[in-house]
Amino acid sequence: MSPSSATEDVTTKHSFCRVCHAACPIEVDVATNDGVERVTAIRGVQEDPLFEGYTCIKGRQLPDQMHHPDRLRKAYRRSEGGELEEVTSSDALDEIAEKLAAIIEEHGPQSVATYTGTGGYQNCVALEAARGFHKGIGSRSLYTSVTIDQPAKSMVPALIGWWEGGWDNFRDSDISMAIGYNPMVSSYAAAGGLQGTNPFTTMRRAKERGMKLIVIDPRKTELASFADIHLQVKPGEDPALLSSMIKVILDEELFDIEFCEDWVEGLDKMAAAVESYTPEYAAERCEVDAADIVAAARMFAAGTCGTAGTGTGPNMAPNSLLTEYLAIALNALCGRVNREGDQVESGTLLYPETPKRAQAIPPMDIRTGPQHRFRNLRGYRGEMLCTVLAEEILEPGEGQVRALIVNGGNPAVAFPDQELTMRALRDLDLLVVVDHRMTATAVEADYVIAPTLSLERADVPHLMDRWLTQPYTHYTDASIAPEGDVLNEWQVFWGLTRRLGVSMPLAGGDIAALDEPTDHDVIDYVYAKARMSMDDYRATPRQVHPERSYVVEAADPDCAAKFDLGSEPMMQKLTEARSQQTSSELIDGYVDGEFPFRLVSRRLKSALNSLGSELPALAAKGGTTNAAYMNPDDMAQLGFTSGDLIEIASPMGVINGVCEDAPDVKQGVISMSHSWGDASMKDDKVRDIGVPTSRLTSTTACYDEYTGMAVLSAIPVKVKHSDLIEA
Ligand code: SF4
Repeated sequence: MSPSSATEDVTTKHSFCRVCHAACPIEVDVATNDGVERVTAIRGVQEDPLFEGYTCIKGRQLPDQMHHPDRLRKAYRRSEGGELEEVTSSDALDEIAEKLAAIIEEHGPQSVATYTGTGGYQNCVALEAARGFHKGIGSRSLYTSVTIDQPAKSMVPALIGWWEGGWDNFRDSDISMAIGYNPMVSSYAAAGGLQGTNPFTTMRRAKERGMKLIVIDPRKTELASFADIHLQVKPGEDPALLSSMIKVILDEELFDIEFCEDWVEGLDKMAAAVESYTPEYAAERCEVDAADIVAAARMFAAGTCGTAGTGTGPNMAPNSLLTEYLAIALNALCGRVNREGDQVESGTLLYPETPKRAQAIPPMDIRTGPQHRFRNLRGYRGEMLCTVLAEEILEPGEGQVRALIVNGGNPAVAFPDQELTMRALRDLDLLVVVDHRMTATAVEADYVIAPTLSLERADVPHLMDRWLTQPYTHYTDASIAPEGDVLNEWQVFWGLTRRLGVSMPLAGGDIAALDEPTDHDVIDYVYAKARMSMDDYRATPRQVHPERSYVVEAADPDCAAKFDLGSEPMMQKLTEARSQQTSSELIDGYVDGEFPFRLVSRRLKSALNSLGSELPALAAKGGTTNAAYMNPDDMAQLGFTSGDLIEIASPMGVINGVCEDAPDVKQGVISMSHSWGDASMKDDKVRDIGVPTSRLTSTTACYDEYTGMAVLSAIPVKVKHSDLIEA
């Protein structure tokens, strides 16, 4: 950060943070010196009605992210000599469009794919711009991080059904059950669970009003420190735990009998399927006390309002679809839905008006999406599956992907099976990366385009809009003018469609028909069908709109839809899970006794995946590696001390990590953050850049046959001192 000088003019602007999706409102100090603007400080907005001044350490480092010396501010192209050389973004788009046209001509439109990662999701128009680009060129090959994060969340409503009026509100809850998520760090929100809006204060108030909290997590997380019951479950065994809780609730008739008579079917099938999941059986398999399972089941059922919800951990573990299904089944069983007359917590002002009646939405056919060429997998909800992308690139034939545009993501370290992913990325005819950092994927690219960063663009909190605790508007303009040859992500797709001579349809029409659209125009086009007009939305920054709350209406008297607790594929999975000794058996190459530990994925206060380790204040707090956190007793038994380099091997791959003691981690568990490191496969710089845990995983050794999800957490591993020679 540059020191203030006498000529500096400092003004304070209002915006919101976009490092993660929580969208915390911020005051942004902007110093102008000789016409150049710099962000010098970030503060929370004390008077904000929802966030009450909350920010986290990551958001407060925005000035360093915006002005980092290594931030990309120009475009690059691969020279004939193989180096990345500077090019104007306009020339880069000309050349990319020319290559795309040739690829489409030779291989057809499906050969052009895009991948929007976590970074791209923070821009309210980036994904919709990618969708518009795909519609324009006629390609279905749209990929996002959703299909390697929590795809079960998209699939389960089709299996079990849903509730039009929404799940119980957290603000009214007297019980809450969090299964493998920690909103205190990740700001992640499960339906009806604690939101990322000022989470510590919100939880403290909930506890003060008497809310009970059950946390199921192999770590004693920040959230678990508030728990009335913390079940420190063995990773990957959540289905046994949840099935046993359902059994207790059914056996003791603790469920909402009246609600189930009206709105639930398949109870008898569920009862039969969980019959053998006794608390004693689940306790042994999950390494918790049977009495605690019974107590948790009774506590959950005794509540009058409040939901169970899952997070990244169980959604990345084996049996992920089953875990999500069982969590939603618990909610349905206990009738944890908004009833007629209830006010829905979130306003969803940025989404189209939808009916909110006190009635179920029936399950649907789950196998209707476009067919992948491998493993009988299908895309769903307008996306193809990331776990199949490498094969779609490498395998010749109709539908082969030859060009990939990566926006705000890093497949080289994030996708399962790093070796396969790198082979695929290097096989492409064209790889374009839009990123502000020279990531492990960007160094492989044919073109790199530098994007604007959050405080340089207009935006709306589009992800948080569904989870905010009240209908709330926050339109932000850019706080500073961008410096350098940087493009908003939508400009990349708009520029390509214009050059290709195709349309770019968004909700409000064809944006490719506009000659010089602004950020504001594009937001208007993307959110043209929002239930609040963008003019009204813009006019009321940081305001709550209780008058725009949905109030749940009476059910349609003819509605015959019900939740299906006896879904055939899920009953089959329950039976199969019961026949396993451990969920690790599902993984090809697993040998009982050889892999005594489970490696779980985790979030860090000082980083969002690997984003943050390059910023001095965050590196000082969290270090520059994704440490392998272990229980001190395990470390003592293995002769490890903190800072030791250890080798971690799964049935699918090997990495080297830096061991750190962590009493909050259950014995037998290694806890590591994902998407770190580079593509060298060497790990010799592990202390400086971390290591990708994706190398321990595979797209084919164990995957869900509906979502294609690979096992990215609860990975069976063995550990020993490493022989690696460090750089
Ligand atoms: S919680 Fe997320 S949005 Fe809020 S300050 Fe932290 S990184 Fe930014």
